[in-house]
Amino acid sequence: MINLVLFGKPGAGKGTQANFLKEKYNLKHISTGDVFRFNIKNGTELGTLAKSYIDKGELVPDEVTINMLKAEVEKNPDASGFIFDGFPRTNAQAEALDDLLEEKEMKIDATIALEADDEVLIQRLLERGKVSGRSDDQDESKIRNRFDEYNEKTAPLMQYYKKQDKFHSVNGIGSIEDITERLSKVIATL
Ligand code: AMP
Repeated sequence: MINLVLFGKPGAGKGTQANFLKEKYNLKHISTGDVFRFNIKNGTELGTLAKSYIDKGELVPDEVTINMLKAEVEKNPDASGFIFDGFPRTNAQAEALDDLLEEKEMKIDATIALEADDEVLIQRLLERGKVSGRSDDQDESKIRNRFDEYNEKTAPLMQYYKKQDKFHSVNGIGSIEDITERLSKVIATL
């Protein structure tokens, strides 16, 4: 069993890479952003709540996000491992994930960051917004707010995982195949 956290700023390519890695390593991909968007599309109470934060480029509160993530993990008792994409994004979420996995006699094997410059990411997100229709990808001030949230609340998790000797990073600029290859090299060392 292998459990990975894909780490990186919005637009770094976590979702794209998770889609390749899940096939290659037979993992269940959980993207909290995707679960929120699914709930928004289906008009659930969770979706309405999440939308009020997502539309401003803010993080959804920990309690809501953690409960949702737990439910997603529990829906997949037979998974041979998980890729967590966009979770954890705060210290409380990282601790909750460790506790949840420990209860199940599982653990995070590695957290791999996809590195790219802010200006490259902003251009990528604006391009993605034209295709995806995601309102949080279409407005530069919302994008910058998501980066501020990342810098303030998520970046400190690098230290959290470094302390556990689980933090790795790869260059997130290049072709999709090259980046998958860089990630695979890290996974091969686990
Ligand atoms: P993403 O698709 O990962 O870029 O997430 C889109 C938006 O969903 C984020 O800007 C947050 O508002 C919300 N979101 C996704 N994952 C989390 C999380 N782990 N904690 C809090 N908010 C989240």
